[in-house]
Amino acid sequence: MIEPATEKVLAEVPEAGVDDADRAVARAKAAYPAWRAMAPRDRGNALRRLAAAVEREAGKLATLEARNVGKPISDARGEVAMMVDVFNYFAGAPERLFGKTIPVAGGVDMTFREPLGVVALIVPWNFPLAIASWKVGPALAAGNTIVLKPATLTPLTAIELERIALETGLPEGVLNVVVGAGRTVGERLVQHPDVAKVAFTGSTEVGKRIGQLAAASIKRVTLELGGKSANIVFADADLEKAAASAPLAVFGNAGQDCCARSRILVERSAVDRFMRALEASVKALKVGDPLDEKTEMGPLISADQREKVASYLEDGARVAIRGSAPDGPGYWFPPTVLSPVANTDRAAREEIFGPIAAVIPFEDEADAIRIANDTVYGLSGSIWTGNAGRAMRVARALETGTISINSNNSVRVTTPFGGFKQSGIGRELGPHALEHYTELKNIFLSTT
Ligand code: NAD
Repeated sequence: MIEPATEKVLAEVPEAGVDDADRAVARAKAAYPAWRAMAPRDRGNALRRLAAAVEREAGKLATLEARNVGKPISDARGEVAMMVDVFNYFAGAPERLFGKTIPVAGGVDMTFREPLGVVALIVPWNFPLAIASWKVGPALAAGNTIVLKPATLTPLTAIELERIALETGLPEGVLNVVVGAGRTVGERLVQHPDVAKVAFTGSTEVGKRIGQLAAASIKRVTLELGGKSANIVFADADLEKAAASAPLAVFGNAGQDCCARSRILVERSAVDRFMRALEASVKALKVGDPLDEKTEMGPLISADQREKVASYLEDGARVAIRGSAPDGPGYWFPPTVLSPVANTDRAAREEIFGPIAAVIPFEDEADAIRIANDTVYGLSGSIWTGNAGRAMRVARALETGTISINSNNSVRVTTPFGGFKQSGIGRELGPHALEHYTELKNIFLSTT
């Protein structure tokens, strides 16, 4: 593992192969009957113990994550805290996996939500701990056993999570971590006959491949994929507030965020005022050492990623605002705002996954909706306006899974998160997540 802020070796991790993936699935399969049969209260308590143990090790986990991903330590701490919240939230689920009774003639009809078996969880490098928790929490609560595959660039906290889980007494085989490449270990997990479901977060391109591979055995799949979200700012909004919030809504995690609001749509009459306020907040962003408490943005994950991001400044892109970034070792890239951008430009169409925002002017409400929806993605987005009726009209018209009004917040532990269109299939977090880790069974009991 290379530390993105220093380009020095942080740790060496042996890479698993297909045989290791098979062994992990076998362990998970062996552990499944007992885990599934465990009393719901006991399964919930196992998740509570896991949450408490993660909380005890929060400092260590956050530092490891900050160094491995290059993310600000305050963000890394937030992610560990989210993992704790997610595990505690889903700890209440085993006793609340309610079924229904349905009125029928001649008997009693009941539905049950039952676990699937072994589930493979494949996660990316941008929020390794948080995204793992979104899947591990509901999967375990529902009674499944797990093989978790972190991204090869960022496996360290997943390895720690497995150790912590075993130390809290989670039965052996219930949570197995395999560190290996997507093309080998990832694809083996997706095709393994003993894996009942794949929950994947990553790029849309890999999501398509996983969908194709899983189709061969009708494997259950949930996909949380890329985004190109719109941050729509109307002239009647609190422009100062919108402009103060916009930079971290794109540049948070150095722009390596599926929810990045990387298309900032601004009503034409407000563009000049908005740009002045935006410039001040972009220039004020603190970019630097991830372990510094004051840092708001760190480096990119790798040299390859930096090269890809830099390619969006070719082709005559108009750089309107450029923030600062350190020189020297580390995969740094300054926060950058392009303006004006047409929604047909490459910077407005592709997920850049780096700190580049595109400001796109619009004429009126209908134009804003048209531009916002003119993308293959539909993950997230924001609407800034002082008009509540307009806010709701636009929110309902957007082809997007997760919308905030006068806020750039996307993710809450207790509410569903996921995408429309090519941003994915399924929802994570909140009560809906459990549907994706269970099958619905119907039982009819004759009373005649
Ligand atoms: P990626 O698709 O390259 O990799 C994600 C994971 O899939 C990694 O563990 C990788 O090893 C594995 N993988 C790669 N190829 C595979 C294959 N053929 N079969 C099985 N597994 C394979 O994504 P990334 O570069 O790690 O992450 C960035 C992407 O993730 C961005 O597109 C981003 O938008 C998306 N993302 C989405 C969400 C969301 O919730 N919607 C959240 C975070 C990131």
